[in-house]
Amino acid sequence: MSEHEIYRPSGLFGMDCGEAVDALLQYLDGDLTDAKRALIEQHLAACEPCGAAASFERELRAVIADRCHERVPESLVTKIAEAINKERNLGS
Ligand SMILES: [Zn+2]
Repeated sequence: MSEHEIYRPSGLFGMDCGEAVDALLQYLDGDLTDAKRALIEQHLAACEPCGAAASFERELRAVIADRCHERVPESLVTKIAEAINKERNLGS
């Protein structure tokens, strides 16, 4: 099931890549509790692929917000999340 390498936090606290990706959109929306935000920040700092995905998405949102002053359509957000997942699954 897990042939690709994913970051697994050690210790009691922390989230793995799947949880981080799931929580990423909420994180960027500011929808997370402080405790969960701390967990994802810890993951993003420790896990390069997820950190890169997060900054990519953050920049994308900044550009969109700057240009159209509208909320990012839910369909686009979903597509990006799927793309991130797909890329992760393709990684050798
Ligand atoms: Zn990760």
